[in-house]
Amino acid sequence: GSTIGIIGGGQLGRMLSVAASRLGFKSHIFDPASDAPAAQVAHRLTAAPYDAADALKAFAASVDVVTYEFENIPTDALDLLEAARPVRPGREALRISQDRLTEKDFLSALGLRTAPYADIPDAAALEAAMATIGTPAILKTRRFGYDGKGQARLSGPEDASAALAEMKGAPAVLEGFVEFSSEVSVIAARGVGGETVCFDPGENVHRDGILRTTTVPARLPAKLTQDAVLLAAKILSALDYVGVMGVELFVTRDGLVVNEIAPRVHNSGHWTQQGCAVDQFEQHIRAVAGWPLGDGRRHADVVMENLIGDDMERVPDLVRQADTALHLYGKAETRDGRKMGHVNRILRG
Ligand code: ATP
Ligand code: MG
Ligand code: MG
Repeated sequence: GSTIGIIGGGQLGRMLSVAASRLGFKSHIFDPASDAPAAQVAHRLTAAPYDAADALKAFAASVDVVTYEFENIPTDALDLLEAARPVRPGREALRISQDRLTEKDFLSALGLRTAPYADIPDAAALEAAMATIGTPAILKTRRFGYDGKGQARLSGPEDASAALAEMKGAPAVLEGFVEFSSEVSVIAARGVGGETVCFDPGENVHRDGILRTTTVPARLPAKLTQDAVLLAAKILSALDYVGVMGVELFVTRDGLVVNEIAPRVHNSGHWTQQGCAVDQFEQHIRAVAGWPLGDGRRHADVVMENLIGDDMERVPDLVRQADTALHLYGKAETRDGRKMGHVNRILRG
């Protein structure tokens, strides 16, 4: 049978491996850590750094297609992989989404709304940008941020130097604070033939910059649901995208504002495991393997809740609850702010 190569062996890589296995594929994970969450379920694991050229070449030679669970794949690694096998989603999606500035330029050029933003290479740029964008605002590192890390909020000009210090010299962007009534996301998929399927938008609640819950259906007027799906399709088609993408949106009085995109399966799509016949992980494997996509229909209302750090103490209780599917990632060590698992609670009547 065919083998799916997956760069990154965190929980997303783990759940992709399980989905691949269920469709009869083998999976080969590439991750620097030999005890990565996906190591327990993958058919094969290469534990090597992302700059180990020989290991990357051998990995690519052993698989039929390469995909990934995170967007920060170094360009050199990508060059090696691409030379050997199809990499899906492709290079352009990675190039755009690795850098918040490039991503916002791309979205703006597509005619989509983003928060007001400015490139912040230095203190002078920050001062100038605060004058035009105003406060409150958020300073974010252009690259490598996740779960709200690498961000600093500015209530007024007096916060500028402290916020800049938090960037630790990394290039940053300033974003105006978007007054949103809620946050939603669309998990969209595009196949090799260009067909596009979206799951229903989910409503997201964050705490301390980390996703806590996703609820479907989102409380969203029909017009905005349609807007969300159309703008997601526009993004995927502009990138000639293959695979699943998460599109994070702010709901405002004037319509939808795109927060960010993630060229991979997405935490806010975990509800699909209990809400749809074909979940986001299977959908992604289908897309990168060149299979027909599943339909995105939802057969249940679901609340997904992340289990973060000490939330793990609730597992003995959660495992006894009706209509609750528990997903644990097999991480040996519980740490503050670390995603350890999630539950999908099916809502009835
Ligand atoms: P992840 O990739 O894990 O979703 P991240 O570190 O890339 O997170 P963002 O999505 O940029 O972080 O921000 C995290 C949360 O902070 C958002 O979901 C939103 O609640 C809030 N936030 C970020 N940017 C803005 C903004 N410009 N205006 C208002 N709220 C914001
Ligand atoms: Mg992000
Ligand atoms: Mg985000």
